[in-house]
Amino acid sequence: MHAGRDDLARQGLHAPPIDLSTTYPSYDSRAEAARIDAFAATGAEPDGPPVYGRLGNPTVARFETALARLEGTASAVAFASGMAALSAVLLARASTGLRHVVAVRPLYGCSDHLLTAGLLGSEVTWTDPAGIADALRPDTGLVMVESPANPTLAEVDLRAVAHACGSVPLLADNTFATPVLQRPAEQGARLVLHSATKYLGGHGDVLAGVVACDEEFAGQLRQIRFATGGVLHPLAGYLLLRGLSTLPVRVRAASATAAELARRLAADPHVARVHYPRIGGAMVAFEVHGDPHEVIAGVRLVTPAVSLGSVDTLIQHPASISHRIVDERERRGAGVSDRLLRLSVGLEDVDDLWDDLRTALAASATASTTAPVPERGAAVV
Ligand SMILES: *Cc1c(COP(=O)(O)O)cnc(C)c1O
Repeated sequence: MHAGRDDLARQGLHAPPIDLSTTYPSYDSRAEAARIDAFAATGAEPDGPPVYGRLGNPTVARFETALARLEGTASAVAFASGMAALSAVLLARASTGLRHVVAVRPLYGCSDHLLTAGLLGSEVTWTDPAGIADALRPDTGLVMVESPANPTLAEVDLRAVAHACGSVPLLADNTFATPVLQRPAEQGARLVLHSATKYLGGHGDVLAGVVACDEEFAGQLRQIRFATGGVLHPLAGYLLLRGLSTLPVRVRAASATAAELARRLAADPHVARVHYPRIGGAMVAFEVHGDPHEVIAGVRLVTPAVSLGSVDTLIQHPASISHRIVDERERRGAGVSDRLLRLSVGLEDVDDLWDDLRTALAASATASTTAPVPERGAAVV
């Protein structure tokens, strides 16, 4: 509520100002040269105006300050999207010659794709959490996990994983949990990644990414951001700061509804299996006996759309959308079955949501043309 806004009352302001400047005038070009040299040396935020909009922005910096405070890190660096944030981390590691990444599936589909395709020159070894220590090589620059993972909500023991990493930085994608439910830096993750597009923004109207970390790594990320240009727009910085002020309330309310929906889904005869994380949260994944495409076609109150973390409830079919880009065999191997649906629970009334889901599930059973999956019994995992 207050981080990133500490100076406002002294300035006679209540809402944070939005600074849309792309450049910052100065009659002292010797001082500007010194400020650029200082940035090139450490990546520390310039004192005073940022010289040019690609070096930094005061409105975005407010969001970064607040997010770092929430995650319990010294710094945070914001980017134009979650993928731009992950790209900057990979480039920062590759620029030191450490191109090898050890990662645990599942990850968000595009993160998986970025690593697998080696688009930024990285080479990935996929393993399970128990295999991390053995997968490390002298050129390993990063270990990456998501917990709870997109889309299966699989959880890893972050403290144990951080221990297995030794001196190799652990990046934990904390998009699903948010700092309200989990602060990975406290458990040993050096880098905490968010698709801020999701819960941090929280209203489905801003694309953004952010990495919370120590100041040394933040300096490297700011230098990469300066050189590659994946900056966050100041209006997005404003919306994110505003989103953070209601984050705990939104996450707790949506999580309570999600837990109740997970219970009701587990008892529904059309549902084969429900995944709901031990730490809670507003995401529910479930496998249906019938045709998952018919559930998507059947919802009316719930919005059939990819993405998550908004105030309204969204449902999507990961094998068709969020994880479509992952090789089919790898996708199934990571637990993303063709019958899995991912629900991002919002702030609607739980009974309204359940009426909609129940109706769509019943329709999916009668419309189903696919063979039923073997009965495994519903279980809340
Ligand atoms: C959406 C998402 C991303 C990518 O973020 P964008 O803001 O869409 O670029 C990364 N990780 C997770 C877990 C996500 O859900």
